[in-house]
Amino acid sequence: MDLTSLNQLFTFKSIFESLEDAVICHDIDFKITDINPAAERLFGFTREQIGKTVCGLMEKAVFEEYEHLVNTVRSGAKIQGFRTVRRSITGEDLHVSITISPITDAEQKLIGISQTIRDISDEHIAEEQQATLAAIIEGSEDAIVSKTLDGFITSWNNGAQEIFGYAASEVIGKHITILIPQDRIHEEDYIINKIRAGKKIEYYKTVRLAKDGTEIPISLTVSPVRNKQGHIIGVSKVARNITAQKLADEKQAALAAIVESSDDAIVSKTLAGIITTWNKGAENIFGYSENEAVGRHISILIPPDRLDEEERIISSIKRGIKIDHFQTIRISKENRKIQVSLTVSPIKNSDGIIVGASKVARDITAQREAENALKSNSQKLMILNSIGKSISEQLDVNVILQQVTDATTELTGAAFGAFFYNKINEEGESYMLYTLSGAPREAFEKFGMPRNTAVFHTTFSGEGVVRVDNIKKDERYGKMAPHFGMPDGHLPVVSYLAVPVISSTGTVIGGLFFGHPEPGIFLQDHEELVVGVASQAAIALDNSKLFEEVKTLSLKKDEFIALASHELKTPLTSMSGFLQVLQKTASDGMNKVFLDKAIRQVDKLNILINDLFDISKVQAGKLQFNFEQLDLGALIGDICETFEQTVPGHNYIYTREGDLVLHGDKMRMEQVITNLIGNAVKYAPHSRDINITAVNRDHEIIISVIDYGAGIPAAEQVHIFSQFYRVREKDRNISGLGLGLYITKEIIERHGGRIWVESEPGRGAAFKFAVPVFNTHTNI
Ligand code: ADP
Repeated sequence: MDLTSLNQLFTFKSIFESLEDAVICHDIDFKITDINPAAERLFGFTREQIGKTVCGLMEKAVFEEYEHLVNTVRSGAKIQGFRTVRRSITGEDLHVSITISPITDAEQKLIGISQTIRDISDEHIAEEQQATLAAIIEGSEDAIVSKTLDGFITSWNNGAQEIFGYAASEVIGKHITILIPQDRIHEEDYIINKIRAGKKIEYYKTVRLAKDGTEIPISLTVSPVRNKQGHIIGVSKVARNITAQKLADEKQAALAAIVESSDDAIVSKTLAGIITTWNKGAENIFGYSENEAVGRHISILIPPDRLDEEERIISSIKRGIKIDHFQTIRISKENRKIQVSLTVSPIKNSDGIIVGASKVARDITAQREAENALKSNSQKLMILNSIGKSISEQLDVNVILQQVTDATTELTGAAFGAFFYNKINEEGESYMLYTLSGAPREAFEKFGMPRNTAVFHTTFSGEGVVRVDNIKKDERYGKMAPHFGMPDGHLPVVSYLAVPVISSTGTVIGGLFFGHPEPGIFLQDHEELVVGVASQAAIALDNSKLFEEVKTLSLKKDEFIALASHELKTPLTSMSGFLQVLQKTASDGMNKVFLDKAIRQVDKLNILINDLFDISKVQAGKLQFNFEQLDLGALIGDICETFEQTVPGHNYIYTREGDLVLHGDKMRMEQVITNLIGNAVKYAPHSRDINITAVNRDHEIIISVIDYGAGIPAAEQVHIFSQFYRVREKDRNISGLGLGLYITKEIIERHGGRIWVESEPGRGAAFKFAVPVFNTHTNI
């Protein structure tokens, strides 16, 4: 080796030693011939490896890869910058770039291989980072655009395409102003100036134009792009489409305005019950300001006895169940009770998880009060109505007063109630205990009658109602001897209510009194109710008084009629006797005619007096009957014959069918049939035919007396069987008192039968009655 060659060798050696890249040389059998210090630095391979095979420095798979590369070099190709991973002695994987070169001898014969390994980990990381960045940029929903400082677009991501509608190929190289509305062009200068000054612009809200001309609200972040030397060479722009956010913001603002202006309390709270928002309505209703309420527990609004409601509400909310119009009571800051209608809904976060509850509370106190007033008024009316109805049906004073006392005692919640009659009794006391409810009578009787104390006086003088929460504190109380208050043993009275019962004439009939041992029992409502009942009771009492008077009068009238008819009958009977004697002896034709007339008039008078006599007996329930086996068919035949003789001018057409024997009173039946045929004659004088039929149908004998006269209008038909009733005005000229049908009906009914009329006005009347063959009334 010459000197030059030697020098060269040393030079190589020094280069070899000082190289930054690891160099490993081996012969064609892969036996290591040299290793430089860099290989030791990077991989921990030392010169001790020299003489050993390369295979020991690598895993099997890596060696196979290497062997393959070496073979490629052997075949004359070059391997330069082959990227792979090599592991160091310490097990660290390094990204490397390998260059494999042949080592040849002077005859160009391959004698070995040099492997240069460059550590490119940093480069690799940068590449990876760049790739990541590129992926991020491409994957971003935001528009990420870069441009030169002159404003020419240099890059354009997918997001930009999405937002602005241009593909990258359409805009790269174009000026950024294609995105800027005319009236905002100046913004670009402002942005560029800032960038040139090295400043960043963040979240700049503006509007940009899409390809189709629509204006898109965006939020811009613009940063300078610097080269390695730190010089600003361009601009990167991130634009976020904030259309949705803007809409959401607007919606939120609108909602906030609604919440703030609502009269309802709108409150939100966490699931633990801590108040998180509080509107004006809540402040107005509950009295707490927003500052006072937010952060506190919702239980500040809940009455202690309703705390369990909150648990139930929250457990529903946690299950996602909304609570609608739950009516309850809440308390205000001043401890006032408020009737509220609550609507509670779950609040979900963006992941749909329930994180709290929103509460809308409507103050329904006024509505409730109105409802309650209405309810209590209608209840009052219902009570009054039902008491009124039951007492108005009564004519018995005792029953009326007992009902009224019982009902009012119950309604007022009194311990006891009493009605005192305004009546002077034997002892000369003004008031008499009449009825009592809720206490035994003895409780009062021990003390005699109430005295005319100042407390009672007001009621019995009709001055008005006395309602006292605590009678012992009333100035009118305890003024009089000997008790100066309630006598010992008296029912304890603290709450006191007294209402006069005043008749329509203005006289005080009496008073309703109520007592209770506790104070403040009787309310305005009770007073109104009792006043209402008292006025109804007064009417009922007035009516019962009238009724009693009418009853007495009517009794007197009946007594009078009985007496008068008896007194009249005696002289009439003797008159009739004398006239008949005279008639038999009279020879003069004229006198005979007068006598006949006189006898007929006396007969009529007799009938009238008999009717009057009968009626007084009917009233007294003393109409006598003699029931016997009676052939009604034959009886009617006889009566018809009598009529033919005494009242000629009519055809008395009698038809009969079947067995007409029954159990009855002959005289009374004769009276009935005579009355019916007599009426036909009287009220249908122009009816030539008078049909009388008698049939036996199903153990009933049915008799009809039919005339063809004026008949009876339907409206009158119901009345003609009552006493003193006469249909037509002109019937007043026909003798009669309107008693015949009344007595007839009584007789028929006493035979267990019934009577009725069928008539078509202008066509006549058919009076019919039916009596059972075996009547069950015969023992009466
Ligand atoms: P009176 O004693 O007046 O006849 P009644 O009780 O027998 O009384 O009859 C009551 C009224 O019924 C009569 O006043 C008359 O107006 C009417 N009336 C009874 N019978 C007939 C009849 N057949 N046709 C028309 N009206 C009759």
